[in-house]
Amino acid sequence: MSVTIIDGKAIAARVREQVAKEVAEFTAQTGRVPGLATVLVGDDPASAVYVGGKQRACTEVGMVPFDRRLPADASFEQVADELERLNADRQVSGILLQLPVPEHLNGPALTAIISPDKDVDGLTPVNAGLLSLGRPGLRPCTPLGVMELLGEAGAKLEGAEAVVVGRSNLFGKPMAQLLLAQNATVTVCHSRTRDLREVCSRAEVLIVAVGRARLVSGDYIRPGAVVIDVGMNRLTPEQAGNKSGLVGDVDFAAASEVAAAITPVPGGVGPMTIALLLRNTLQAARYQAELYAMLAQVGEEGA
Ligand code: NAP
Repeated sequence: MSVTIIDGKAIAARVREQVAKEVAEFTAQTGRVPGLATVLVGDDPASAVYVGGKQRACTEVGMVPFDRRLPADASFEQVADELERLNADRQVSGILLQLPVPEHLNGPALTAIISPDKDVDGLTPVNAGLLSLGRPGLRPCTPLGVMELLGEAGAKLEGAEAVVVGRSNLFGKPMAQLLLAQNATVTVCHSRTRDLREVCSRAEVLIVAVGRARLVSGDYIRPGAVVIDVGMNRLTPEQAGNKSGLVGDVDFAAASEVAAAITPVPGGVGPMTIALLLRNTLQAARYQAELYAMLAQVGEEGA
């Protein structure tokens, strides 16, 4: 059986195109333009590159980017004040605090300040709770991107054995919840899992997000499985065997011999995250447009 390579780059481009179309329709209908604010604390070059990418993507789909930067020694109160200002600004539909923040700051506590209806990363306690209760809310972008890839790959989730390796709040836990919501039978693995190979080899859908180059070898893969590799590990191009020097958590060549479909690294999950961030920002803008219209009505009636 020949393996299908799931082309995240092409799928992400289609999502972005669709978002751009819907942004134009939304703006025509409401007179509002969705806005995405990124908050970057410090001058970590990798984070600056990620933020720049998000800003550009925003402009490309017709949204307004708001670029907020604070110095590396900014206090908790300074960052909190910036987030509060953005919460109150009606031009801003979505707020993203670029993680990690410098060590002296408490990232989760800062994230929790973001208004849940502007939390386009889906990481506030309110949105995490709504997800686990199966209620509508904003979901984390990377797991949402993976769901999109699984849909495009034609993966059957209902009743399927799905294994997620990694249990971070950012990815593993919300990923498991999204699969559960689609009626998969979900197992979540982590660093204390006793026999990782045995658990993975049961998976019809295997999703790996650990951050260890080629942790998952060919004999972890059930024949015919759909494999999603979320890991991003930087090696030298010679070690990696590709131009970018990036490899995933799965041994791509070995897994491709066994799997029915697999994502490459780079070009698999990576491009999906920004695409879904844009979709989340539009979702947030729609919600707020309804809310502001309702508030205006109440205000008029109350007057
Ligand atoms: P993280 O917070 O460091 O979590 C890693 C998880 O892997 C933890 O749950 C850890 O278990 C588990 N783990 C560590 N060693 C293990 C082992 N030997 N066997 C089984 N599980 C093990 O990382 P993350 O933020 O979830 O990210 C994971 C990877 O995905 C990274 O490479 C990251 O760069 C990548 N990522 C990519 C994107 C994207 O846009 N493409 C987005 C998010 C993440 P414990 O909980 O027991 O410590």
